Amino acid sequence: MDFYRKLPKIELHAHLNGSLSNATLAELREHKYGKEVQLGTNDGFYKILNGETLSLEECFKKFHYAHDLTDRREALELATQRVIEDFARDNVIYLELRTTPKSTAHMPKREYLSTVLDVIRKSSELHPEIVVKLLPSIDRSKGIVEAEESVGLAIELDALYPGLMVGFDLSGNPFGTKFADFVPALQRARSHGFRMALHCGEFDDVQEVKEMFDFGMDRIGHGTFIEGENLEFAKKSRIPFECCPTSNVKCKTVPSYEEHHFYKLLKMKQPVCVCTDDFGVFETSLSQELEICAKTFNLSDDEMIELQQNTIEYTFANDQEKHKLRETLRKFKESR
Ligand code: 5GP
Repeated sequence: MDFYRKLPKIELHAHLNGSLSNATLAELREHKYGKEVQLGTNDGFYKILNGETLSLEECFKKFHYAHDLTDRREALELATQRVIEDFARDNVIYLELRTTPKSTAHMPKREYLSTVLDVIRKSSELHPEIVVKLLPSIDRSKGIVEAEESVGLAIELDALYPGLMVGFDLSGNPFGTKFADFVPALQRARSHGFRMALHCGEFDDVQEVKEMFDFGMDRIGHGTFIEGENLEFAKKSRIPFECCPTSNVKCKTVPSYEEHHFYKLLKMKQPVCVCTDDFGVFETSLSQELEICAKTFNLSDDEMIELQQNTIEYTFANDQEKHKLRETLRKFKESR
């Protein structure tokens, strides 16, 4: 594990509210509900507070806990800070964090987005060792009006926080929604200059993947079910895949680590990177995901360094930022 911890890492697929550690969830809970926690011993949160193992169902409940606990400005600030600190502690040197701007009972959508951006802006002073960018997310399950609103807000706030928002994410539960409905909002975001990191091929729908490729994207989120002609297209277009092994295995979209498409992509020389998705929900870290890949597919330390070096090229960072990241990886490689 020591090598993977020390390895300077690039994280390109991390959802803010899925990246709250158990310690952060406990801290936020105390902030909102106080120290005296009335819980039955079967309650998932009781288990979190007492360090017990959670079932998968209990893990998924963490999204609900997180959304409840980050519904006020101060809590969202703290949550964002903790996520950045946790990634920095894991020696992640570049992070593209994504989150769905939402209005809550205590905060309008604009405040949600500006709060996260404020923390990211401050983090460059508090944690100069990690560069953090934001990808606002469109949650498919929330519909197109919310999507249009989020794009409008991001365009407006981009003038106040230049260089911090580098792309858009399309995520959320896709069932019962049509990709085509989100095209106008995504097109507007793209015309403004935001890059596209879209969850694509998370479930088996050949036609939707084709429609998404017709629209075009800069990176593919998961891409679990991209095969045949669609895979050929991704290969020809050299679109990078963001692979999140533990998330996929725990969600059962991939049967096992051994059968994860990461290795197939790597062998066919497709641009591919390894990410956490929701390290709080799936109880992992980027170091752990990389170690799992190396051990499962028998990859050497040099190959893992190369994977991080290649990942720099798939970021939405600017040339100067990429240059710095390349230097950090080069020095790490030379120092071994
Ligand atoms: P948030 O956007 O609230 O900061 O992060 C949590 C949200 O990210 C979830 O409610 C969901 O919309 C999205 N999300 C997290 N993991 C996944 C995933 O694996 N697939 C999809 N489609 N969406 C996800």
